[in-house]
Amino acid sequence: MRNVVIIGSGCAGNTAAIYAARANLSPLVVSGHEAGGQLSLTTLVENFPGFPEGINGPDLVENIKKQAQNFGAEYVHGAVNDADFSARPFRLNIEGEWIETRTVIIASGASARWLGLESEQKLIGHGVSSCATCDGFFYRDRKIMVVGGGDSAMEEANFLTRFGKEVALVHRREEFRASKIMLDRARHNGKIRFLLNTVVEEIHNVADKLVTGARLRNVKTGEVWDEPVDGFFVAIGHIPNTAVFRGQIETDSEGYILSKGGARTNIPGVFHAGDVQDRVYRQAVTAAGAGCMAAIEAERFLEKEGH
Ligand code: NAP
Repeated sequence: MRNVVIIGSGCAGNTAAIYAARANLSPLVVSGHEAGGQLSLTTLVENFPGFPEGINGPDLVENIKKQAQNFGAEYVHGAVNDADFSARPFRLNIEGEWIETRTVIIASGASARWLGLESEQKLIGHGVSSCATCDGFFYRDRKIMVVGGGDSAMEEANFLTRFGKEVALVHRREEFRASKIMLDRARHNGKIRFLLNTVVEEIHNVADKLVTGARLRNVKTGEVWDEPVDGFFVAIGHIPNTAVFRGQIETDSEGYILSKGGARTNIPGVFHAGDVQDRVYRQAVTAAGAGCMAAIEAERFLEKEGH
């Protein structure tokens, strides 16, 4: 019987593990399919407090993990395939094996939705990014491309004009999902050039491990051409990793966990931390803070129950 099982090993999960381990709760962390979370997909992180020179995303998340392990947190590879929160203790199926636990912290994150191109996957962290706040700074006076037609794409395109000399916004149709105000802001931004009815066919240049351009196709005219570009940002949405808890944990229509205040979910003893609940801030530092909150709440919950 575990006191606390933490699902996810990104910034939120690892920080929860530090706090839970230091509270002598011997937490078990289930690493998940994308061990290290979104940070493991970035390069230099310059906005996490405490690192005046910046720190590599994968190093940062690995350091937090080591810190948790130093206090006795245990890590297991693999993912939670099934969960039963209908009775206490809770039951989790980790790669085929059921375990029991008194509390659960869900820190399974939200995965960026990608276009699915092979060249895109190979260039993630080398010019392809899903986070303008994290990586925009690297493209000062460079050419930037943003893909998407929702609020995220508008927000990222606007934000990136602070750095880039030009931002090309590529969207696959003429209508937008973005709210009028966000769209208008982008339309009135002289640095943003709209490329509509346009899809990305390939990102160059995998051989050089560097983004140098993108091959685009106009879906109406069939025209195919290359655009030179230095930074390529995909902003076509995120997918919260909550499918396995469906029907048990209350979520909004897109699958983000609905918070019941603090780190609480609708099930007492099951807590949330990080991007799995947060569709607004999505930062490493807010995820770390949320992990801390969830661990403190789990500790108090266990204390109240006399454990
Ligand atoms: P979204 O609203 O779902 O928009 C996703 C966009 O990506 C759509 O335009 C979609 O095109 C496009 N897309 C999806 N898959 C694609 C593919 N495979 N290839 C090319 N394009 C693709 O997602 P979001 O922009 O991340 O926003 C999510 C939620 O967060 C929304 O509720 C939004 O309002 C909110 N949000 C709010 C703010 C803010 O208010 N500051 C900022 C960011 C996000 P189609 O339209 O053709 O489907």
